Amino acid sequence: ILLLVPILIFLFERRLYQYSIQLGIVLLIYYILNNVNQKSIFQAKLLELEKKNVSELEIQVEKRTEEIIKLLNTDFLTGLYSRKYFDLKLIEEINFINKDEQIAVLYLDQNKSKTIKYLYGKNTSEKLLKKLSQAIKDKADNYKGIIAAYESDVFVIMLKGSAVDVAAEKLGEEIISLCNDLFYVDKHAIRVTLNIGISCYPRDTSSANDLIKNADLAMLQARTRGFNQIQQYDEQLGNVTYSRQIIEMKLKTVSFDKEFQLYYQPQVNCANGELCGFESLIRWHESDNNIISPLDFIPIAEEIGLIVPLGYWIMETAAKQYAQWKRVTGKSIRVSVNVSSKQLIEEDFLQRLQAILDKYEIEPEMFEIEITESYQIENSINVLEILNKVKELGVSIAIDDFGTGYSSLYYIKNIPTDRLKIAKELVDNIENDEYSNVIIQMAISVAKVKGIKIIAEGVETKEQFTCLKELGCDEIQGYYFSKPYPADEIEKVWFK
Ligand code: C2E
Ligand code: CA
Repeated sequence: ILLLVPILIFLFERRLYQYSIQLGIVLLIYYILNNVNQKSIFQAKLLELEKKNVSELEIQVEKRTEEIIKLLNTDFLTGLYSRKYFDLKLIEEINFINKDEQIAVLYLDQNKSKTIKYLYGKNTSEKLLKKLSQAIKDKADNYKGIIAAYESDVFVIMLKGSAVDVAAEKLGEEIISLCNDLFYVDKHAIRVTLNIGISCYPRDTSSANDLIKNADLAMLQARTRGFNQIQQYDEQLGNVTYSRQIIEMKLKTVSFDKEFQLYYQPQVNCANGELCGFESLIRWHESDNNIISPLDFIPIAEEIGLIVPLGYWIMETAAKQYAQWKRVTGKSIRVSVNVSSKQLIEEDFLQRLQAILDKYEIEPEMFEIEITESYQIENSINVLEILNKVKELGVSIAIDDFGTGYSSLYYIKNIPTDRLKIAKELVDNIENDEYSNVIIQMAISVAKVKGIKIIAEGVETKEQFTCLKELGCDEIQGYYFSKPYPADEIEKVWFK
């Protein structure tokens, strides 16, 4: 509009054209400058806005990155640090350690976590794990320990400072004392047991990887002494506790007669306290001072197929022992063997079983095979057929670890069973956990209807024994009466 002013002046006052042109030029310059100015102000504002946006974005990216790192460093279930974080942190701490400092790693293994999962279900077992991990974390916090969930049932704790080997042992003891109390989850009272191995840097090794491996080995060593045990790593121990790979390697060249031995655990009649049978349990004397637990080598023997020849060796050895004891005592005392499904489904299993019975002149009902849920019998008609044929031979069949699986009642209904062995995990909780108590009661009443005998495993106390007796349990097996022993020890105590 302003630019129109000189034109209008020119039109109305023709004489002032020179002045009008000057005015027009001034106004044009003003217009251009103004425009340029406006634009630069606009651009500056835009720039400012952009800067603001970018910095907001940066903050968000930083926050997200932090969240992702936290997620990567955190165990999803327990909220503790993850394995990855722990591994990296350990390397970092080793790299920045002072001369007067040590690092101790505690390796904590929760025993029988799979059984707890079977027994109480996934939800309850996860809640238990959370509760347990929190309780352990509270203890570790007092020692400024860094704790991580290392595997589904393994925790690791790192302590750094002077004399942390002693502190680690003290912390270990405090953590084990948590197992004195029952954990209450979803109305269940659950007993938890742990084993702890401890390894120290630089005492035992100079590498982070070995530090954890050594603590794991120490834990395995602790487990050979029973549950709720603590063990410090020492080099000797490194030679006698083997990893999976070494066990596998050693199994491939093992000499059955030289290294394997059967132990026998008495089974006692509840009503009159009389001996009524033995369960044979294998022991592997790998060297003079090293026994490898069947829990560690049987699964590997199953995987590599060794369980088949080993299974026959076990059957034959137990049968031979039965015959010898019969000769010595003049009595037939039932003997049972644990039979792996891999062996059971072998083509000639029935023939070989019959041959062993014939060779040692055993009454078939005095020879018992124990089978477990791991058979997944539900899915395998073949196994059911074989079990029916075993029954036709007259051989006794016991269902092991009863009550720890989902399909327990299936057994009672469909499998030709002579004896149900109530799992130790149920017996452990019989006095405190209503659920365990009810399962046992139910198993006993259903079994009675079907004429199946009930034997309780892992009975350790008089209270458990009395309780089971009152519930109508037929037989008892457990440390309360006797641990498993070699044949000669059994003879000394039981055949006097
Ligand atoms: P399982 O058949 O359930 O055997 C019972 C386990 O509980 C045995 O451990 C026995 O020593 C232990 N035990 C018995 N009473 C008590 C007690 O009162 N308290 C405690 N804490 N434990 C008790 P073991 O001998 O270490 O055997 C572990 C598992 O290894 C057996 O569990 C079985 O599944 C397998 N196994 C053992 N021997 C053989 C075998 O000859 N053949 C096969 N296929 N498996 C075997
Ligand atoms: Ca058994």
